[in-house]
Amino acid sequence: MVFQDPYASLNPRWRVRELVAEPLVEQRLVAGAGELAARVAGLLQAVGLDAADMHKWPHQFSGGQRQRIAIARALASQPEFLVLDEPTSALDVSVQAQVLNLLQDLQHERGLTYLFISHNLAVVRHVSHRVGVMYLGRVVELVDQPVLFSPSTAAQRHPYTRLLLDAVPDVRMRGHPRAPLQGELPNPLAPPRGCAFHPRCPLANARCRSESPALRPFNGAQLACHAAEEGRLG
Ligand code: SF4
Repeated sequence: MVFQDPYASLNPRWRVRELVAEPLVEQRLVAGAGELAARVAGLLQAVGLDAADMHKWPHQFSGGQRQRIAIARALASQPEFLVLDEPTSALDVSVQAQVLNLLQDLQHERGLTYLFISHNLAVVRHVSHRVGVMYLGRVVELVDQPVLFSPSTAAQRHPYTRLLLDAVPDVRMRGHPRAPLQGELPNPLAPPRGCAFHPRCPLANARCRSESPALRPFNGAQLACHAAEEGRLG
């Protein structure tokens, strides 16, 4: 797991060596102190840091460097699957790009699978292969990344996905009419009956207010939407 805020996820009282070594020690993956130091050095170098950085404290690093330390720690036990919870949202935009490129390089080198959680569609477009769009804790659409961002299939997207895409600022979209998202976000602990999106959906009908839509195949994607089933999308 890599958490959102590297200023909060690294123990300020531990040196980098202890932080990165923790999974190795807890899971008894190394035999002695020498092997431990070598593994930590290798992990730091794999994320673009110096092996000597293991002797420093977290406060001696910038936000991007701290996130690299968190990634090194996550890789310590040689996982195949990583959960990345908004790993760049606390960073400056230029540093975000460096960390995203590092994650992509590591993915290619090590054959990793990522579950990448983000609310930033530009980041989603850059890193993802397949996207699950969630509303109030439920997946409302599962779609391949190129299809999600293709203008030619925009009319086939879930109504919530379409509103999200419409909200992305784009200089090429001058004069393009946009539909603002109506209403307030309901309480996730007591979501509306039927489709949870119906109070805000421009395509809602009586069925949407009473029956929860299941995720079903639709034109190469999967949508949880009655309008898709009834041919009312687009
Ligand atoms: S099921 Fe109905 S309310 Fe929900 S997204 Fe589809 S059209 Fe809108």
